[in-house]
Amino acid sequence: MQQINQIYINGQFVAPHGMELFDLHNPATAKVIAQVKLADEQDALDAIQAAKQAFPGFSRTSKATRVDYLKRMHAAVASVEAELTAAIIEEYGAPVSRAAWMAKHAANVLLEAANVLQDYDFTQRIGIADVTMQPLGVAGLITPWNSNAGFICGKLAAALAAGCTAVIKPSEMSALQTAIVTRALHQAGLPAGVFNIVTGRGETVGAVLSTHPDIAKISFTGSTAVGKHILRAGAETLKRITLELGGKSPVLILDDADLKQAIPMALQAGFMNSGQACIAGTRILVPANRLAEIEAMFVEHAANIRAGDPQDPNTSVGPMVSFKQWQRVQRYIHLGLEEGAHLLVGGPGLPDGIEAGWFVKPTVFSRVTNQMTIAREEIFGPVLSIITYKDEAEALAIANDTPYGLQAYILSSNLPKARALAAYIDAGRVLINTLAHEPRAPFGGFKQSGIGREYGTFGLEAFLEPKSVLA
Ligand code: NAP
Ligand code: MG
Repeated sequence: MQQINQIYINGQFVAPHGMELFDLHNPATAKVIAQVKLADEQDALDAIQAAKQAFPGFSRTSKATRVDYLKRMHAAVASVEAELTAAIIEEYGAPVSRAAWMAKHAANVLLEAANVLQDYDFTQRIGIADVTMQPLGVAGLITPWNSNAGFICGKLAAALAAGCTAVIKPSEMSALQTAIVTRALHQAGLPAGVFNIVTGRGETVGAVLSTHPDIAKISFTGSTAVGKHILRAGAETLKRITLELGGKSPVLILDDADLKQAIPMALQAGFMNSGQACIAGTRILVPANRLAEIEAMFVEHAANIRAGDPQDPNTSVGPMVSFKQWQRVQRYIHLGLEEGAHLLVGGPGLPDGIEAGWFVKPTVFSRVTNQMTIAREEIFGPVLSIITYKDEAEALAIANDTPYGLQAYILSSNLPKARALAAYIDAGRVLINTLAHEPRAPFGGFKQSGIGREYGTFGLEAFLEPKSVLA
């Protein structure tokens, strides 16, 4: 069995001080595929020390030098794309087309950061002041398992573009991806200590990062509960904190929408990344007078959605990452039934014909009210809720009646009207008739979906502090 027993500190692959062994599973079979030796608090301290020592030199490198580093990192990660795709399928269970996109994305975010840095002015004159954007210091970067390689590369790209150094705590459930990305990034040949990668538990390595006085900044993606914990833990040292948390994104299907396009798109928005996506469109708001027609179309189109073997190119929904996540999703499906929602597609248990692995049936509930638990809490699995509205004012009210505000979708054949409604939605991003990503535009949440923004200039500035020199 594969052993992953190295972490990356100060430019070197080293054995962790930590002794705990963690079993890595293939979620499509539930079998153990590797053992990971986890880093502990001491490893986290060593990594912080290395990043602290590297900071004075790295923070003074020129923009051109850092653009060059990011381009080298991009080339290095791009060169392991195939290996990374295989690892994402094996340890995370992403369907092959999604996994390939995720591996490419991990490389692309580095190039995108290079382009943003290239065009960014670190100084400007305001009145009698020279205002300079100065890197914050050592950044702690904490990633989840639902896009581990992409988050490692994306957060690191922004931190390094700014001139910060970094300690990364990836999800231990993504240790294969982390090992591949770490080897590639090492090949890029950056100065020792500029980035350090310590796979360990959130309660140990993550806790050291979120409290240590030498960490100036935390960028975290994960659950809202842990995000709040990190914010509290960082308060003592007034860390700058970026949080990308959960979502319960509404999909507004307007009365004028072409349903032949809108329904498949709504299913895609809801089931993306096997439903394990913070931006998944999980509350589908539909005009009450078209419910019967819309329900029939959901049943028809959902029949084309295959849950199963992630290696099969026809699969669009893979397994849940862990047994714990599988149980969590099952619990919500049962809750939906208990709360009286109408089960339109899917339901509890394994999909037909599947006997092993953490698969769930892609599930759509209808006649859900926005007060039901399945409409309020993030499920993080392929479970969608159809909610009816009487008119657009009510649709907007329901869309915004949520503690979250990460993303929203509007499906309509009337673009000016959709744009007008978008202005009233409290979400970091509103996608009209598209599921596209714009890497130069800010990404992040309103309300309890988070604090701050990633990507583009906004993401770069999240690692910078303005300083005014008056003369
Ligand atoms: P999580 O606990 O928030 O994990 C995210 C990351 O934070 C992991 O690397 C985790 O390490 C780390 N962490 C945990 N406790 C920490 C602490 N006290 N201090 C610092 N870091 C800490 O998420 P999860 O338990 O894996 O998933 C639970 C739910 O979170 C999901 O069902 C979903 O609703 C949500 N989620 C959201 C996103 C998103 O993209 N916004 C991503 C993943 C999960 P460990 O792995 O060691 O716990
Ligand atoms: Mg956790």
